[in-house]
Amino acid sequence: MATHTEQLTATGAAATVTAERTAVRLRGLTRSFEGRAVLDGIDLDIPAGQFVALLGHSGSGKSTLLRAVAGLDHEVAGSGGLTAPQRVSVVFQDSRLLPWRRVLDNVLLGTEGEEKGRAALAEVGLKGRERAWPNELSGGEAQRAALARSLVREPELLLADEPFGALDALTRIRMHALLRELWERHRPSVLLVTHDVDEAIVLADRVLVLEHGRIGLDLTIDRPHPRTYRDPLLGEYRERLLAALGVTEAPESAAEAPGRAPSTAVTAADHQ
Ligand code: ADP
Ligand code: MG
Repeated sequence: MATHTEQLTATGAAATVTAERTAVRLRGLTRSFEGRAVLDGIDLDIPAGQFVALLGHSGSGKSTLLRAVAGLDHEVAGSGGLTAPQRVSVVFQDSRLLPWRRVLDNVLLGTEGEEKGRAALAEVGLKGRERAWPNELSGGEAQRAALARSLVREPELLLADEPFGALDALTRIRMHALLRELWERHRPSVLLVTHDVDEAIVLADRVLVLEHGRIGLDLTIDRPHPRTYRDPLLGEYRERLLAALGVTEAPESAAEAPGRAPSTAVTAADHQ
């Protein structure tokens, strides 16, 4: 997609507000199920181009928040102000590729421009797999295809709901690098839902913790990229996030937990 700068210079007057442009604005957002408020008056601004991670325990309302921002919750009771960009792409834990369509056709679904689809597949490392069927892909490849499908839509906002949650640890680390690389090239705003503290701090420049229906902690991660799990300076952020999640010490088993990066200490997922 074109960079924001290009888009804004193309639209003239809008260029004056580039620096302050807000991609997502939530004001007093509430969402309830059976009379129970899952989101309880959320206020949030995400500037255009910011990479944000949303952490929280299972059931804390992360997906509910993401679905609200994606405009996928018309049936849900709620109130509050919500502004989001027009072009939004959503990536889920499951790639949601249609099994009866080849990879390229999945990527192009509902859009035009085969070349763009091929380019997106090349960007995610799937050049040559255009004609493969989804069931011929590994889990990591399927998520790459899902990222390519979101890319061809040139999203201003990329919403991702635990997109790497089902991948093995090494694949997940590669996908982290890919996602960050794609973000650097295209600069959409990103809201990445995860329950993995380490995933949040290696990827995002701002990490939110959802707790009791509110943003309990809003932390800016001021470290250069690429980041590694081993960066000791990330430890302080990790501590603060774990504390906000109510996690006080590392369980012995964390290092061997399946699906965990080898060098990762603890994630909130271990405490659900
Ligand atoms: P998270 O993604 O953080 O794990 P969710 O947003 O999926 O949490 O869910 C938050 C709470 O809302 C949970 O208690 C869940 O059971 C409830 N919930 C979510 N969606 C629905 C729904 N469609 N109907 C009823 N309850 C729901
Ligand atoms: Mg969820």
